[in-house]
Amino acid sequence: HLPTAELQALDAAHHMHPFTTNDELAAKGARIITRASGVYLTDSDGNEILDAMVSLWCVNLGYGKPEMGQVAARQMNELPYYNTFFQTSHVPAIALASKLAELAPGDLNHVFFAGSGSEANDTNLRMVRTYWAQKGQPEKSHIISRKNAYHGSSVGSGSLGGMTYIHEQGGMPIPGIHHIGQPDWWSEGGDQTPEAFGLARAQELEEKILELGAEKVAAFIGEPIQGAGGVVIPPSTYWPEIERICRKYDVLLIADEVICGFGRTGNWFGSQTVGISPDIMTIAKGLSSGYAPIGGSIVSDEIAAVMNACEFNHGYTYSGHPVCAAVALENLRIMEEEDLLGHIRNTAMPALHAALEKLGEHPLVGTVNVSGMMASLPLTPHKESRAKFASDGGTVGYMCREHCFANNLVMRHVGDRMIISPPLVITPEEIDVFAARATLALDATYKDLKD
Ligand code: PLP
Repeated sequence: HLPTAELQALDAAHHMHPFTTNDELAAKGARIITRASGVYLTDSDGNEILDAMVSLWCVNLGYGKPEMGQVAARQMNELPYYNTFFQTSHVPAIALASKLAELAPGDLNHVFFAGSGSEANDTNLRMVRTYWAQKGQPEKSHIISRKNAYHGSSVGSGSLGGMTYIHEQGGMPIPGIHHIGQPDWWSEGGDQTPEAFGLARAQELEEKILELGAEKVAAFIGEPIQGAGGVVIPPSTYWPEIERICRKYDVLLIADEVICGFGRTGNWFGSQTVGISPDIMTIAKGLSSGYAPIGGSIVSDEIAAVMNACEFNHGYTYSGHPVCAAVALENLRIMEEEDLLGHIRNTAMPALHAALEKLGEHPLVGTVNVSGMMASLPLTPHKESRAKFASDGGTVGYMCREHCFANNLVMRHVGDRMIISPPLVITPEEIDVFAARATLALDATYKDLKD
């Protein structure tokens, strides 16, 4: 390929990046990833970088699994594309929907496919409103979500999300979507115990339902463990109370499993980890380990029965795309064949948690937030008081991320929190490499702050 500087110049000239400041891109040049294998990326300068974020929380199987490419090639040759509109179907979509019905808990037995998590959450938005309208309650259309949540970037899913800096662009949120507080005890819990804080945050849902009128509220949406919001681990009191309130007021419960699904929290689904039985689950990312773009909504027997009785005027050209569906099915087959859940529970999780505990002793690290194989390390000037840096917007987190890159490690920063979501196949030896590089990055950040 072209030399790095030339690629960077072309990139800055012609390629518009999501969530990126283009001035910064032009000044520094993009980091260009050319190949990847297992847990390591290779950049255009030949650096071997350990990816502790699986790109964007996607590549759970690790990079370069040859079976995935073989299945994609076979499917492309056999049937590269056909739609699933108007009473047509194909084998990969049928097989994947059946497999997901088998894996999903309870009576979540029906899948509406999409091309991404954003599209799937748009489906959910329209589906819950249509569901209540079909049941003769069209006014039951409001949806409650949480501040600082991320549910996608389309106008619908971006409105469901609760990030104000996203809302500011493009006229979001759309009407009928409301946001309550997030269960982030470390940042917002003050003097309350985590349990009392978790309960209080859940009860905001009841307050909001009563304010709007239960007859107007269609659904509540939340990630079991909030990911892009900073890996927010809810206190144990939070989710049981949310579920109780949803059931009391006949409000559908949507679990956004785009990050938490497919092993990330140590179970197939994050809903199982936090002990809830949602009516709808949003899936994407780990469904195909990011090898092909696919997402979807898995819904209960009751919702499917109501929706199947009408024509749902909704769908995407690539709903259930045969190549993506075949790749996702292969991903799930490999997860089962290699007993990935067993590896996570018995090997990867204990090693990762031990490494994080050590990192938690670093003077910059306030605490360790961890669930299964997703974690965050909030950086702080003072552990005991849970103080924030004056630059809460993320200057220190950004510095640390840059030091990670300099040490051939990818950790993301959300504000001043460092985020960790390694490949689920990672070995204890690779976790040692992660911990050594993370320590170097934290030390370098600490030194910069002292100097
Ligand atoms: N939901 C959650 C919880 C996510 O983290 C994301 C993406 O990060 C989305 C939805 C949107 O998914 P996509 O980027 O595939 O549209």
